[in-house]
Amino acid sequence: MSGRLAVVGLGPGDARWLTREAEAAIAAAAALYGYGPYLDRVPSRPGQARHPSDNREEAARAAAALRHAAEGASVAVVSGGDPGVFAMAAAVCAEIEAGPQAWRTLDVVIVPGVTAMLAVAARAGAPLGHDFCALSLSDNLKPWELIERRLDAAAGVGFVIALYNPISRARPWQLGAAFERLRQRLPASTPVMFGRAVGRPDENVVVTTLEGADPATADMATLIIVGSSETRAIARPGRAPLVYTPRAVQGASA
Ligand code: SAH
Repeated sequence: MSGRLAVVGLGPGDARWLTREAEAAIAAAAALYGYGPYLDRVPSRPGQARHPSDNREEAARAAAALRHAAEGASVAVVSGGDPGVFAMAAAVCAEIEAGPQAWRTLDVVIVPGVTAMLAVAARAGAPLGHDFCALSLSDNLKPWELIERRLDAAAGVGFVIALYNPISRARPWQLGAAFERLRQRLPASTPVMFGRAVGRPDENVVVTTLEGADPATADMATLIIVGSSETRAIARPGRAPLVYTPRAVQGASA
């Protein structure tokens, strides 16, 4: 019997943002693998095995899930947000590429989810209404100089920038350095959005400007969107501003 491995996106937190395909893939699995807090979000079913692991053990978790599936089991690996965005799907692919030939015969299914960037954007308005990019600020898996080059390039050509993994105890200064860098290329008034734990009970969304952006506002559960020079905030009485990036850039032939 050939096994099955589903890599399932849970969305950012709100159960209403879990797709029906994700729900079905979780229910169908005989065993679940994932970072402990993500597994805790998934309802348990009698007879279903759970294998929580630490945040940093992505390669080992992927390999363990693949070994289990190769025994013929139906296994699901869960991921926050979308599994293909800075998450488990690429870790699973890397293990398959490096692993035994038998892993290539497994039925592998990636189940997409709502990524944090989309959830934060929706709370703020429509900041991703025109061209944008996403960057992980973590220099665990790439050199900081490369992150700086990418920030410069992205801001320089007018992309709105979504920053994942903005800060952690082991990476305390990188976000401040990133803001400093962006201030050299973008107007001080550029809208900046901090979305923390979006879709969870402790959600907090703050809209500020590049000039006012304070790295201390962010933690590991925060996604930051830095606008482009086209992005604007519409002030509204008694309500948070509505931030959007127009669909046409200035100078476009309409
Ligand atoms: N696969 C995930 C991203 C994993 S990287 C996804 O698609 O969303 C982890 C980073 O995602 C965090 O550091 C944070 O920047 C962001 N993130 C994840 N969940 C979030 C949430 N509920 N609210 C805000 N940011 C979140």
